[in-house]
Amino acid sequence: MDKLKSVQEALKVKKEVLEISSELISLMGQFLRRNGFIEILPVIISPITDPLNHSVFDATIKYYDGSYSLTKSMIFHKQLAMRIHPKIFSFSPNVRLETEDKKDSGRHLIEFTQIDLEMREATRDDVMTLVEEMLKDVFEKLEEEFGTLLREMNSHFSTIKPPFKRVKYLEALEEYGPDFESVLSKRATQPFWLIDIPVDDREFYDKLDATGKTLRDMDLIYPYGFGEASSGGEREYEYESVLRRMKYKGNDLESMKWYLEEVKRGIPSSAGCGIGVERLTRFVCNLEDIKNARLFAKKPGELSI
Ligand code: AMP
Ligand code: MG
Repeated sequence: MDKLKSVQEALKVKKEVLEISSELISLMGQFLRRNGFIEILPVIISPITDPLNHSVFDATIKYYDGSYSLTKSMIFHKQLAMRIHPKIFSFSPNVRLETEDKKDSGRHLIEFTQIDLEMREATRDDVMTLVEEMLKDVFEKLEEEFGTLLREMNSHFSTIKPPFKRVKYLEALEEYGPDFESVLSKRATQPFWLIDIPVDDREFYDKLDATGKTLRDMDLIYPYGFGEASSGGEREYEYESVLRRMKYKGNDLESMKWYLEEVKRGIPSSAGCGIGVERLTRFVCNLEDIKNARLFAKKPGELSI
């Protein structure tokens, strides 16, 4: 298969980028621990995983009479973990076998890592405030060790000043048309929140708001055209609402029965988000393509080590 990339290609990542990425990971973990979070180990395989709102190639492994899915996101495990601890995070490896049309987006890999966090009984605002404070703290500390180097890389990180503007999804759609996210990201000089995303654009687990049309959720969008940084929101947690949303979305109830049983037994209300680590590294280091943000990067439509 001529789509196989060489090992040399997979190793074409600058030493400084790896050092900055390592520091980002460390600083985010430290910030969350200081704020009462504990780190849980990631789940790599499970009978249940995020159904996503777009289709990807299947990634399941047969095991005896059953099968495991490779984790697309830890959303359900985060919700269940809320029974044990009120604030958790994980550096969660996700496998999403994206189609090759995403190859040139500059921001898609088929194996990537989210810093995935969840807070019991929290609201969307709590999560947005936490992320703003985390980025402020992490960027200030990054400045000390890597400020000069990052300015040589023409990074925008030191100009980032939370709190970030909030933009309503439907208002942006009306004003700028279907490509609004990319239009707004390109013209922005600060990250911004995209809030109140329409129900049809998201999975069943983000909480429906009082309008019944949009969700209590949000995306964080990077400026200078770097696009989406994070998605998150408040979660559905009551059995009837979860079931209604799954049916509306057309999710396969049979394959989700383990989750549904637990929701019936009772899971806490929560809110959280996931921030792509490679995308954060790409933004901070001002990299053209996400493949240069980590070692052994795997782009859609290719095979790599
Ligand atoms: P999602 O819940 O699908 O929005 O994913 C959470 C976050 O993970 C996104 O906001 C991105 O930062 C990151 N992410 C999602 N898909 C990819 C991908 N294919 N490659 C790299 N990062 C991704
Ligand atoms: Mg998203």
